[in-house]
Amino acid sequence: MTRYRDFHRRSIDNPEAFWRDEAQRIHWHTPFGTVLDRSKPPFARWFVGGRTNLCHNAVDRHLAERAQQNALIYVSTETGIERHYTYAELHAEINRMAAVMRSLGVKRGDVVLIYLPMIPEALFAMLACARLGAIHSVVFGGFAAPNLAARIDDAKPALIVTADAGARGGKVIDYTPLVDEALARAAHKTPHVLLIDRQLAPERLNAPYLVAYEPLREQFFNAHVPCEWLESNEPSYVLYTSGTTGKPKGVQRDVGGYAVALAASMEYIFQGKPGDTMFTASDVGWVVGHSYIVYAPLIAGLTTVMYEGTPIRPDGGIWWRLVEQHKINIMFTAPTALRVLKKQDPALLKAADLSSLRTLFLAGEPLDEPTAEWITNALSKPVIDNYWQTETGWPMLAIPRGIEDLPNKLGSPGVPSVGYNLTIRDELTGEPCAVGEKGVLTLDYPLPPGCMSTVWGDDRRFVSTYWSSVPNQQVYSTFDWGVQDENGYVTILGRTDDVINVAGHRLGTREIEEALSSHAAVAEVAVVGVNDPVKGQAAMAFVVLRSAQPEGDPSERARLEAELAMTVDRQLGSIARPARVVMVSMLPKTRSGKLLRRAIAALAEGREPGELPTIEDPAALQQVRDALGDGGKN
Ligand code: AMP
Repeated sequence: MTRYRDFHRRSIDNPEAFWRDEAQRIHWHTPFGTVLDRSKPPFARWFVGGRTNLCHNAVDRHLAERAQQNALIYVSTETGIERHYTYAELHAEINRMAAVMRSLGVKRGDVVLIYLPMIPEALFAMLACARLGAIHSVVFGGFAAPNLAARIDDAKPALIVTADAGARGGKVIDYTPLVDEALARAAHKTPHVLLIDRQLAPERLNAPYLVAYEPLREQFFNAHVPCEWLESNEPSYVLYTSGTTGKPKGVQRDVGGYAVALAASMEYIFQGKPGDTMFTASDVGWVVGHSYIVYAPLIAGLTTVMYEGTPIRPDGGIWWRLVEQHKINIMFTAPTALRVLKKQDPALLKAADLSSLRTLFLAGEPLDEPTAEWITNALSKPVIDNYWQTETGWPMLAIPRGIEDLPNKLGSPGVPSVGYNLTIRDELTGEPCAVGEKGVLTLDYPLPPGCMSTVWGDDRRFVSTYWSSVPNQQVYSTFDWGVQDENGYVTILGRTDDVINVAGHRLGTREIEEALSSHAAVAEVAVVGVNDPVKGQAAMAFVVLRSAQPEGDPSERARLEAELAMTVDRQLGSIARPARVVMVSMLPKTRSGKLLRRAIAALAEGREPGELPTIEDPAALQQVRDALGDGGKN
């Protein structure tokens, strides 16, 4: 691993020299002076004085060489619509959208809140903002009115862009009543709401504050809006993420650093070359969507595939057929999607010609070993787990195959990416942990380009939330547990904030989940800590079985529960053994596939979880309640 090690070392020892070279990947209208301003730690300002524009780098810059190459392939299995846009067509659509926004008063520095389903206009709107120097804040289309209202009040948008409806799994979800309610709840008065009419919910179109997009698009059909040249450190977007408090936290990103980091990641991690096709199955409302549906593939001159729909409609072969049809080279999704696909007929995967596909990337949550093994064998292609957060904007841990073809290590998302000065630290002393010793995954100052520059409107919160939790050190905390081996591979062991403490022993719920998922009968599992009068906390496991539950046979169920508990005993010791194993047929999750552990824990402790607007399927909560209710039988 010498090449990787040298590369990484250089990026840490001399970030200025390293990133000065990397910055050549993008177009600078005005060259930067100082590479890195370290005058106000923990704030880092990259490429100071340089002026650039994300839309120019993603689109305009490619027109000379690839105007007729597809920039965007849009497929919706919800509406049956498929559309292709060349770079020239994308450029025209973004100019139209930018002109429409400008006609509604949007200017440099204004916030535009984008509340859209997975439609091409979401990408146009983001890039139109970038073009104008406006700051987009994309709010995931699945969020409910109270979440939207909170974001409106924090971001204070000059414009909201929305649609009549989204669609998921064949169900139409009206957006305008949600926007209506959010606007009524919010104290901030947004001057305009721009409506993309998909004709999915036509009866809603007459609300008084809405401006219809289509007639304005016609009006500005031939518009050309010049790119605003922004100083590298001006904000490009704000993306809200949940923290430990109820108040949404606006992750603010810059312009130049983000463009440079994404461009570097496309070579070093994703190995995407101009002309390649990349399919990131995520949502533009999440950071993976911002970085790897919209900005990175376009900055690097690829074709990006945007998909509206689920992985199993019309059937579980749809994604593999997309790979075949569009000759997709790079695919990126979350492990949850694969666990769903694992349950499908294996013939569906085999039937597709996947010869174009080079690599599958997975991120957003832990990749369990059985799923990793299954998909690696099924595809016979490299499967690259990568670990990062909304805050970092691009992978912190991965296998940087564009630098050196390092082997995968099952259960680990890999080694630190260039620029990330990652240290596992003891949570009590802040000192670095020894190899193999569990601690908090932290990053030393400065964070590399592309990472959050601050919390929107709240510099103090940036410092107090992220840079103040490790004793005796001002380092960035990921709030994840990890352990590093002698070769630098890091394994993630769950959130520090999901830690449970059983009889004085700290346990990561993730470790117990790993142990349980190694059992052949287990498809999915969530482990939470519940109050225990003697031990403080006890682990409780909620398990989804691979096959149907042994409903009718209580003794068989009891046997299996005992066996599962023993599996944990064997792998982690009896201290980690779940006090109870509860069989359910689905687990409550967010739409991005994250387990709603807190909600499960609340139910397990006999409390109600409160409002969960991000839940994928509320029926899952009832499942947990019911399963707990018949606990006496276990
Ligand atoms: P988000 O900001 O919503 O993307 O969530 C980031 C969190 O998801 C991280 O702090 C981790 O807890 C978890 N996470 C993301 N990617 C991975 C991964 N590859 N392996 C394990 N956990 C992950």
